[in-house]
This record gives sequence, structure tokens and C-alpha cells, in this order.
Amino acid sequence: MNSEAPFRAAANRSPETFEFDYVVVGAGSAGCVLANRLSADGKNSVLLLEAGPTDSNLWIHVPLGYGKLFKDKTVNWMYQTEPEPGLDGRTVFQPRGKVLGGSSSINGLLYVRGQHEDYDRWRQHGNSGWGYDDVLPYFKKAEDQQRGADAFHGTGGPLPVSDLIHADPLSEAFIAAAAETGIPNNPDFNGASQEGAGFFQTTTRQGRRASSAVAYLRPAKTRKNLHVETSALAQRIVFDGRKALAVEYRQAGGLRTARARKEILISSGAYNSPQLLQLSGVGPAELLRKHGIDVVLDAPGVGHDLQDHMQVRVVMRCAKRITLNDIVNHPLRRILAGARYAAFRRGPLTIAAGTSGAFFKTNPRLATPDIQIHFLPFSTDKMGEKLHSFSGFTASVCQLRPESRGSLRIRSADPSAPPEIRINYLATEVDRTANVEGLKILRKILHAPALSSYVVEEVEPGAKVSTDEALLNYCRARGSTIYHPTSTCRMGNDPLAVVDQRLRVRGLEGLRVVDASIMPDLVSGNTNAPIIMIAEKASDMILEDR
Ligand SMILES: Cc1cc2nc3c(=O)[nH]c(=O)nc-3n(C[C@H](O)[C@H](O)[C@H](O)COP(=O)(O)OP(=O)(O)OC[C@H]3O[C@@H](n4cnc5c(N)ncnc54)[C@H](O)[C@@H]3O)c2cc1C
Repeated sequence: MNSEAPFRAAANRSPETFEFDYVVVGAGSAGCVLANRLSADGKNSVLLLEAGPTDSNLWIHVPLGYGKLFKDKTVNWMYQTEPEPGLDGRTVFQPRGKVLGGSSSINGLLYVRGQHEDYDRWRQHGNSGWGYDDVLPYFKKAEDQQRGADAFHGTGGPLPVSDLIHADPLSEAFIAAAAETGIPNNPDFNGASQEGAGFFQTTTRQGRRASSAVAYLRPAKTRKNLHVETSALAQRIVFDGRKALAVEYRQAGGLRTARARKEILISSGAYNSPQLLQLSGVGPAELLRKHGIDVVLDAPGVGHDLQDHMQVRVVMRCAKRITLNDIVNHPLRRILAGARYAAFRRGPLTIAAGTSGAFFKTNPRLATPDIQIHFLPFSTDKMGEKLHSFSGFTASVCQLRPESRGSLRIRSADPSAPPEIRINYLATEVDRTANVEGLKILRKILHAPALSSYVVEEVEPGAKVSTDEALLNYCRARGSTIYHPTSTCRMGNDPLAVVDQRLRVRGLEGLRVVDASIMPDLVSGNTNAPIIMIAEKASDMILEDR
């Protein structure tokens, strides 16, 4: 399972040759795509730096294993927000992958692109080249769709997109119950329209996770011009005036410098990319001066506009012993599930962070859905913790286009210090209303006839929580993240935009940001597929610009 071993290690090379055409910082969803595409024709030398280790942890490759990685600090940055005013002052745990593959090695594996209108909105806000028609070819280029190619899907790309293997009656009943409440069946959330209820597809192949390290790095492992360094924490971009020259990184206790002949590409994710820029002197001048960092460029937009999808869960007690709780809590059933997976790559261990789901509008006047439901055939008090001892299942509400905006700011000039993360969940009336109305519609589905033979009672929030005010209080008390932070180095044309439409950092030379942080605003769905699309498109732009 070791993705790194076959790669050539840059650190073993002599100082004179410690120079590459491209240096990519962060081997996550985006960074692995860049490393593959930029090194493909053999003409460019590429160094990929990753702060975390190789992806040798076995749980990375088992879909249900994401629960084991949720709080594993060997592969996870395990950030926390500051106390959130909209969530009763609670801090919210923020897992982020710190390993080859980045968050795509620890995520919930769901393949959801968002709505066509998300990208058309990006284009309408001045980001030419990023409308749905512009980005669709890159989604297709990345994809190896199990169902075959059509107008919306591609085959033969590095990223396998597969149907669920494990048949689950509860998930089927959820889709039928949604239909009973007027939400039609939709067999493809990534096709002509997202609206409706159906099964998710996942980034897996034959029951194993396809992280971006598996999909993009492994096929490139024999290339002599691609060098991967793990346990290498980038601390600073070195500038000559406004030109980015090199990346200074810490590895095995030593400080090393890798020069980039052509460009430096920051792909460290929505938290670490703005952090690295700020540490390098690119960010709000007052913040940099406060921490004694020389200002290279006063860029107030770096770390601004942080957005995230919140989730609010409804937990149901199930009448039948068919949930994952029943399997995991029963020694024999647990062993059988493990053996089945080991032998055939089938069974409950192939389940991702949602089996079925739904996209609907909380207000008929909306043009497109504003809520996503993730349905899970198990339940727990908090994500990543022990499953309940009773038979239970979960469905969560996620508002797709939150208005609330937060910020990411360094806490100190120490590169190893976690940044200060403020999301400001539920800061606006639109966000509060969408969550409450979303919960009300979800409850209708969960109490529809198709699910009635499975439902004993609603455990959380519980029948006593019935008024809008009580539901909002529940959101504040129990709401948390669904792990989609974006937009901290936003693309755009306004004074707070950090990158232009070719993802070049405005006001600087030789430096781009390519990851979740460049999204002008959040897409209406999960973020891995869109980020892989962004990196596919960026790769073409980077090579064209040379
Ligand atoms: C628990 C969880 C569940 C999720 N579930 C889903 C899902 O089901 N479907 C979906 O579509 N999305 C999901 N997501 C979100 C999705 O995985 C992320 O949005 C996406 O992977 C982010 O890609 P990225 O390239 O922006 O950053 P990342 O993939 O996080 O990559 C950043 C990389 O940079 C490295 N790095 C950071 N700083 C430095 C530094 N200074 N030096 C060197 N390296 C550095 C990091 O270690 C990391 O490997 C989930 C995320 C999490 C955490």
C-alpha cells in the first residue's frame, strides 16, 4: 500500500540539482492531479511536497475505514474552529487529510459535482472559462464512470466512479419515502439535473478507495521526472521581490529549499494554503506585521471568505436489526463482515459516508435545491465515535449555499501552529431558515409510509423538539461540519480576490493556488470531484502558459 516507495526522493539528490520546473505543495485531491498531469510528457521535472506520510495505513483503502481515520493524528491535521457564536459558542472539529491523497484519503468517498448553475454562477461573477460548459470536459476527463460514457460522464480517466456494491434495504426505503413526499427518484445526481432522491456514486474501484494518490500518483510512479517527498512541511515561499522562487520546507529535522524554474503551485487545502501564503508574507498586512512577518504583498483577501457546509443530523431508532450498528456491535457479525470484505471486497465495509441521499428546495421560489440529505444506515452520538448500541440510522441536513462567511488567520509565525479558523455558521437569517425548513422536510421523509416498518422513534432531536425555535436551537446545539471548507484564496476580479481566472496569485509572479481555496463560492454538493476538476483544468492552463 505504499505509494511513495517507488518515487525518487528529492532529498537524496545533490544540492546543485535541487531544482525543479514545478514545485507542488500538498499531495491532496488537487496536488496529486497536478503532479501527474505536469509530469506526463516527461519534459518537466516536478517535486510534490507532502507534510504527511505515505498512504500505508490499511484503513485508508477500505471505504468504511474513514471512521477509523477521523481522529487519527498520524494522517489527519485534526483542526478545531474557534468558539462559534452561532453554535452556542462550541468549537467544531475539522478533520483534514495529512497523508498522500490528502483529504481524499480520509473522506467519505461520495462523488457529487454540484449543480450546473454553480459553475454558471462562477462565470457570471466574472470568472470566464469556469461556466458549466467549460468545466464539464474536465469532469469527464478525470472520470472512469462504471456506467459508461454519456453526455455528462467520461470513461478511461484516472478517477473511478462506481455504484454502491452493498445492497441496503434502509437506503432503498429512504428513496421510496422521499418519493412519497413528492421528491422524485433521480438515478444520477451528476447528470442533467441534481434534484431528487437516489443512490450516491463513490470514488472507489472494486470495493477499494480511489483517493487522488491512488488514482493519479500511483500510475505516475515510474516517471523519472516526478519526485515525491513525504513528511515534508512547507514553511515559506521564498520571493525575489514579487517573484516566487523557491519553497523552504522542514523534513527530518532539517530545513531544505527547493527552487522552481517555472512555477510554484500551492495545493495545501482551504486551511493550509492561506496559512502558507500568510507565513510567506502574502496576506492582510496588519496580521503579518502583528506576527513579525515581512510583507511581500498586502493581500487582505488571503484567508477571507471561508465557507463550509454545516450538517445537522437526525438519528432514528430502527425496528429491525439490519443497521451497521447491529453488525459492528455483534462480534460474530463483525468478523463475518470483515472476512467477506477480505475475500470478496463486498459487504458493509464498502459503505461510504452516505448510501442514498436527496436534493430538494426548502422554498418553491428557489431555482435549484438548497438542501442535500446524506442517509446513513448507522448512528452515533458524534461522527467518528462509537456506534450506538441500539439499531439506528441517520440522515443529515446540509444547506448547500450558505451565506455565512468566516476567516482563516495565522495564530503565530510558527508554521507548525494550527491556524485560527472561524466559520461563523448560521450567521444569516437565510442560513438559519434553510436549516430549520430542511429539517422539517427531512422529518416528513423519515415518517413517510415506506420507512414506517423500520422506524421505532426519532432519537435526536426527538419528538419534543417541534417548533421552529426549538429546531433552530437544536441546530445550534448539535450542528457541525460536513467537511467542505473552501474559498479562502478566492478566484475573482474584486479587491479581495486572491487568484485570477488562471489561478495565478494576483500581484505576484510564478505562483498559483490550485485547490478548494480558489472556489469563488461553495458548490452545491460534495467538494472532492469539483477540486479534482479544478486541478485538471489548472494543469492544462499551466502547461499552456509555458
Ligand atoms: C472527513 C471528511 C469527509 C469528506 N467526505 C467527502 C465526500 O464524501 N465527498 C467529497 O466530495 N468530499 C468529501 N470531503 C471533502 C473533500 O475530501 C475535500 O474538499 C478535498 O479532498 C480537499 O482537497 P484539497 O486538494 O483542497 O485539499 P486536501 O485534499 O486536504 O490536500 C491538501 C494536502 O496538502 C498537505 N499540506 C498542507 N499543508 C502543507 C504544508 N505546509 N506542506 C506540505 N504539505 C501540506 C496536506 O497534508 C494535504 O495532504 C470530506 C472531507 C473530510 C475531511
